[in-house]
Amino acid sequence: MKALVYHGAGQKHWEEKALPQIIESTDAIVRIIKTTICGTDLHILKGDVPTVDKGRILGHEGIGIVENIGKSVRNIKVGDKVIISCITVCGSCNYCKRQLYSHCEDGGWILGHKIDGTQAEQVRIPHADNSLHRLPEGINEDAALMLSDILPTGFEIGVINGRVQPGHTIALIGAGPVGLSALLASQFYSPAHIIMIDTDDNRLHVAQQFGANTIINPARQNVVAEIQKITDGIGVDVAIECVGIPATFKICQDIITAGGYIANVGVHGKSVELHLEELWIKNITITTGLVNTSSTPMLLKSVQSGKISPEKLVTHRYLLSEIETAYEVFSNAAQEKALKIVLTSE
Ligand SMILES: [Zn+2]
Ligand SMILES: [Zn+2]
Repeated sequence: MKALVYHGAGQKHWEEKALPQIIESTDAIVRIIKTTICGTDLHILKGDVPTVDKGRILGHEGIGIVENIGKSVRNIKVGDKVIISCITVCGSCNYCKRQLYSHCEDGGWILGHKIDGTQAEQVRIPHADNSLHRLPEGINEDAALMLSDILPTGFEIGVINGRVQPGHTIALIGAGPVGLSALLASQFYSPAHIIMIDTDDNRLHVAQQFGANTIINPARQNVVAEIQKITDGIGVDVAIECVGIPATFKICQDIITAGGYIANVGVHGKSVELHLEELWIKNITITTGLVNTSSTPMLLKSVQSGKISPEKLVTHRYLLSEIETAYEVFSNAAQEKALKIVLTSE
């Protein structure tokens, strides 16, 4: 089969690889229908994730058809159409028993990281019963693909951790795919006012279409002054950080009201300044984390009923064999106006 293989910082190649085989009795082999590229894949390619070995097939998002299952797989059958969760879940370790699946002792984020991933014609999925979600008949495939990673991430790490409630004023910092996913998912809770902050006007425009009431571009506007104006000098109830750089984390600290929540979703490569000298008195909560994907079944129902339409995040489409071109486009996301790129197997 063909797959996108990592060959060290800055190097990747679409090349021939052996078909994956069942190794453990709890494995399944899935033939990919659609996959996509994540910001995390770009981090890997920059060399930011040293735990990825050379020769690794990248990708942790996808939907597909189950080709083969190990003897112990019970819930998933050959021929099932499934969402591949970015988090592999054994279901029985100490962390899994606390629903902290992202830290599963025999899983967590391993796909396209410690084991071969989904940017391939086929992929081996360990602990298939817990790591795959069967797709209901007639569900939009693009929407389902967004449930592998970005929608659960925006929902669990942004909206749930940030305790968004009806009537809240919330600010999302970063209108990339995950920030926009958090924007969509926040509307389950009817916040009164949603503010999106980003330096990319195109993404701000998309955010408006997705339900943001106010957009702020820090390249032109003073974020703190604008938010003071909107909130009568109080600040926001929830600030959801979806970028992962010191400047955006600082914005969250500058705009949060007393009793508020700062939910960090961004992947940080550098330490940030924590202004505890100002925040200590404000009764705020700061949360962080990696998605557990425990919300995937619920999000699947919300997609099925039309309450949420994450397929709106798809901006570009290519064949899976054109993945190297797709990476170029995704690497220039701002110029290309790219959010999520769907790669479809022939
Ligand atoms: Zn991802
Ligand atoms: Zn586990």
